[in-house]
Amino acid sequence: MLPYEILDARFRPYVLPNAPLQRLADGFAWLEGPVWFADHECLIFSDLPNDRLGCWSESGGVRIWRNPSGFTNGNTRDRQGRLISCRHRERCVTRTEWDGSITVLADRYESKRLNSPNDVVCRSDGSIWFTDPIYGISTDYEGGKQRPELPPSVYRLDPQSGALSCVVADAEGPNGLAFSPDESLLYVADSGAQFAADPQHQIRVFPVRDQGRRLGRGEFFHRITPGHADGFRVDEDGNLWCGAADGVQCIAPDGTKLGLIRVPHPVANLTFGGRHRSRLFICASHSLYSIYTNQRGAVRP
Ligand code: MG
Repeated sequence: MLPYEILDARFRPYVLPNAPLQRLADGFAWLEGPVWFADHECLIFSDLPNDRLGCWSESGGVRIWRNPSGFTNGNTRDRQGRLISCRHRERCVTRTEWDGSITVLADRYESKRLNSPNDVVCRSDGSIWFTDPIYGISTDYEGGKQRPELPPSVYRLDPQSGALSCVVADAEGPNGLAFSPDESLLYVADSGAQFAADPQHQIRVFPVRDQGRRLGRGEFFHRITPGHADGFRVDEDGNLWCGAADGVQCIAPDGTKLGLIRVPHPVANLTFGGRHRSRLFICASHSLYSIYTNQRGAVRP
């Protein structure tokens, strides 16, 4: 059986009929935060409940790269290639410097502690945007129970002043986020209230305003089903490749679900990588998967 399902003809050129879904590694607890380092030909990813970061490469397989990790969840790289991470345990966003030291970029907003930064992206102007739901401090599994001090929000870290501004204040569980290829839009997943019987799990789209300093009013974009809206990435054509309970769903910029790559476990997050940025690395529960596609991940302008 082919590992994908085509729901719209626009999806067909993106998949390769002879490319299998490969399981690269197994035996983790819950994987998140994949980020590709093309210069090192490796993938860094979070094994969140085990409080560690892993590193996978084609030649070396998997090794544990950082342990403990402060219960790191989302990861990305800034414009200088440095690793930016969301740490549940210390409720902060950090940057790993070139000498290996770790700098805390943000841990408070208006003197109150952040909740548990979940996922992070960098814009081409150097600003860092991250989501801050309470998921990481509401259980001992993903960082330890702590009292929230702020409502779930999305923040922007100014590249010059280092100041935080709140750019989305009406989300229940802001989670994955990504810019459109031209950075005129920001997509934000909302996984809803954690223990709700039927949590909302939608992706909203916000226009970027004021030279990238704030957002306009958000609109409904797509409801991920089955499963929750969590991590996703945008490709060169502006499609969203989204983690879902049944695999990786590809959603067109007009909100249409184009197709699905079936994965045996729920997918929390994914990223494009490999030599041509066309290989998907998929964090699926306790396993790391990969599949080659015929589409490339977007690069920042
Ligand atoms: Mg997430």
